[in-house]
Amino acid sequence: MAGVAEASGAPLVVLGAGYAGLTVAHGVWRASRGAIPTVLVDRNPVHVLRTELYEVGRLAAEEDSARWTVPLAKVFDRTSVTCRTGLVERIDLGGRVVGVGGAELPFRALAICLGSVPAYYGVPGAAEHTHQVYGLSGAKRLAKALREVERRSPGLPGERRPRIVVIGGGSTGTELAAEIATTDWRVIADPKAREPDVVLVTGALPLLDGLPAGLVGHARRLLRAAGVSIVHGLNTVRVEDGRVYLEDGTVLVCDLSVWCAGVEAPTLVRELPGPHGRSGRLRVAPTLELPGTPNVYAVGDVAEWTDPATGMVVPATAQAAIAEARTVAGNVVATWRGGTPRPFLYRERGAVVALGLGRAAASVRRVTLWGRPASLLKRAVQREYARTVERGEPSGVL
Ligand SMILES: Cc1cc2nc3c(=O)[nH]c(=O)nc-3n(C[C@H](O)[C@H](O)[C@H](O)COP(=O)(O)OP(=O)(O)OC[C@H]3O[C@@H](n4cnc5c(N)ncnc54)[C@H](O)[C@@H]3O)c2cc1C
Repeated sequence: MAGVAEASGAPLVVLGAGYAGLTVAHGVWRASRGAIPTVLVDRNPVHVLRTELYEVGRLAAEEDSARWTVPLAKVFDRTSVTCRTGLVERIDLGGRVVGVGGAELPFRALAICLGSVPAYYGVPGAAEHTHQVYGLSGAKRLAKALREVERRSPGLPGERRPRIVVIGGGSTGTELAAEIATTDWRVIADPKAREPDVVLVTGALPLLDGLPAGLVGHARRLLRAAGVSIVHGLNTVRVEDGRVYLEDGTVLVCDLSVWCAGVEAPTLVRELPGPHGRSGRLRVAPTLELPGTPNVYAVGDVAEWTDPATGMVVPATAQAAIAEARTVAGNVVATWRGGTPRPFLYRERGAVVALGLGRAAASVRRVTLWGRPASLLKRAVQREYARTVERGEPSGVL
């Protein structure tokens, strides 16, 4: 079947227009000078700036969420990349064809860049009763719900403040907790709105697990300054409307809860044949191809690549997605021309975590930054990601 797809002039198909998919499509277009026919498929006609979705205060303040998206037509208007809006329903690796919106799309090379979805780990009630910020519609729903909770807050009995529980102490949960705690809800919701009482439940893992100790120390200090209380070391075992149950029997009564406890591969990806990692991510060969399936790549959050030098799995970050996508773009062009793909190498550039009120904590090449340098770095990183997305330019920051 591979021969059929090749002989029929089938294109490179890129599934997903997130950080990984856009970078692959741009990279192939640039390196091949438009000679490799490329079809980029996404269910939305826009790229979502997912790394900025913790900004729920701004989302609550602005009617229009266009600032968090980039139209794909604009990104690729001067290229030969074809953008197709449709839901990817089926990936047939053997038949080298994908099903999109009821139609069949054959491919010669394939990049699977479908991102991730929230992982609820079977916790009862978590999917039904928590909000999330892993997608734009979820972040908008949360922003609206927060505004509503704050609008009603002057009517709460006595001195009670609205309580928001954020579950998950990784970067997403930390950034979100700080953002909610430091947003001026009196401007957005009601002049008499009461400050929210934000509780961050880190779960069994420590706060910002995996990030350098210096950064974590500053983040903890800035979270406290923002008024966020942290519950360490306890997993959430059940969620109901207005109640979060922890494993030691503690019940956190709240007005709203948010699930930031991790991500997993989408069902479509989990059901593909071949080796999968713990959260359903596709285990990839050193070239980022699926083992035994030449010219089929997994890139970004869907891929599980283990660094042969350290034995560590590369994290599900935009930084890693963009780095992987560059290697994949090079490999697609090389193999299209009869060459051989090269192995992926990853060097983590650093990390930066936003902590509300323009504050941040960062770590770059083992140097810890906080205060103004860290917040300038955060802004620079966001600008760089947006530029990478809009123009396909390599990101030089993180
Ligand atoms: C609030 C927040 C803050 C973050 N901050 C950072 C940060 O500061 N730095 C960092 O490095 N990482 C950060 N991350 C992680 C980062 O956003 C992800 O790792 C990154 O988005 C992964 O890129 P991707 O291309 O693999 O997936 P995505 O960017 O999620 O793109 C996947 C694309 O696939 C499309 N898609 C999915 N399923 C289908 C389907 N069936 N049919 C059609 N289209 C489909 C989606 O619409 C989407 O466009 C953050 C994440 C969140 C939620």
